[in-house]
Amino acid sequence: MPEVFAELVGQDEAVDTLRRAAGAAAAVLRAAGTHPTAASDPTGGTGPDGGTDPTGGAGPGPGAGMTHAWIFTGPPGSGRSMAARAFAAALQCVHGTGCGTCAGCHTTMAGTHADVRLVVPEGLSIGVNDMRALVLRAASTPSGGRWQVVIISDADRLTEAAGNALLKAIEEPPPRTVFLLCAPSTHPDDISVTIRSRCRVVPLRQPPPDAVAEVLVRRDGIAPDVAEWAASAAQGHVGRARRLAGDPEARTRRDAVLAVPRRLTGVGAAFDAASALIEAAEAEAAATVAETDAAEKAALQTALGAGGTGRGAAGAMRGAAGQIKDLEKRQKSRATRAQRDALDRALVDLAGFYRDALVTALRAPVAPVHTDTVAMARAGAEKWDAEGALRRLEAVLECRAAIEANVKPKIAVEAMMLALWKG
Ligand SMILES: [Zn+2]
Repeated sequence: MPEVFAELVGQDEAVDTLRRAAGAAAAVLRAAGTHPTAASDPTGGTGPDGGTDPTGGAGPGPGAGMTHAWIFTGPPGSGRSMAARAFAAALQCVHGTGCGTCAGCHTTMAGTHADVRLVVPEGLSIGVNDMRALVLRAASTPSGGRWQVVIISDADRLTEAAGNALLKAIEEPPPRTVFLLCAPSTHPDDISVTIRSRCRVVPLRQPPPDAVAEVLVRRDGIAPDVAEWAASAAQGHVGRARRLAGDPEARTRRDAVLAVPRRLTGVGAAFDAASALIEAAEAEAAATVAETDAAEKAALQTALGAGGTGRGAAGAMRGAAGQIKDLEKRQKSRATRAQRDALDRALVDLAGFYRDALVTALRAPVAPVHTDTVAMARAGAEKWDAEGALRRLEAVLECRAAIEANVKPKIAVEAMMLALWKG
């Protein structure tokens, strides 16, 4: 396995920061080993702006460059959670560098390190009970003798109560615990101002298509021409590029979305296209969650035991009904999230098409997003002109914003399709 930061495509600045922090963290552990008293508060503990924080001008002592709470920000697909995981590996690396080969690196990257916890919200938000349990476990002494690392992959999906539980832990951090939060931005909608003020921010940028293509070729062994096409079509989203390059079903779904513009021939066709888009997102989401749902339900039924009679059985059944209800609620919430994610990917593809039509109409010297629908984009540009292409692009972006603001997806998509047809 190569060095852990090699996974981060086109993020030189962030990688620099993280490498330095990992080195500083290793120095803290070394210092703690030789001077046991230093172990009581190795990271300084009061946050990046606090006076005793080793990163804030405390000089080149052990710990400079390291702090206990971080936020990784960047657009979807820029590799926020990958950056957090690589940093976690570097913290657990026995060489303190993220060598990629030692047991610390290896188990962290594989997701099996005992002192690294990854929280992936399954529903629309991360609840307070999950967060409390997590904070409690994160306070324990690291079994590997290095750091307890907690990665929260979508910190913007914390409920307010869960955010408060997390804030408390970040304000009074256990000496060897490091929190790594991932969020689209540090806007107050994404992360509370108080949590933000306690964290160091690592901004990630949208990687350029050629950097994404390069990693697909090097790491995944994908043919260069396919990698180039997928990187461009995925618009800087590394995971999406990999799926497009390797999963025929993902390509079929994308083709169906990009066929929408030429199918919009009237009001009826616009409504049909809206239904088709929503149904496709539902089907894709159902396929993603079906396996996990079934496994969870089977596991719960086994845990509860099938049936049972005699004293106490009635009470046990009442408890069981509650647990099943809880599970169903969680699964429903996860399915809704998966549907929204699938629909959003479709809208991003569609926006890319109208963006291509717009730049063609403007004769702008920039590369198209969808290299395989260039002819269709040119036809659109001729028919609509720059202004019409721009109006359609805006209709797609408005639809995304409306769904984000909780407008019912069917209503938002129907309005968009009508706008795309009328122009
Ligand atoms: Zn290592």
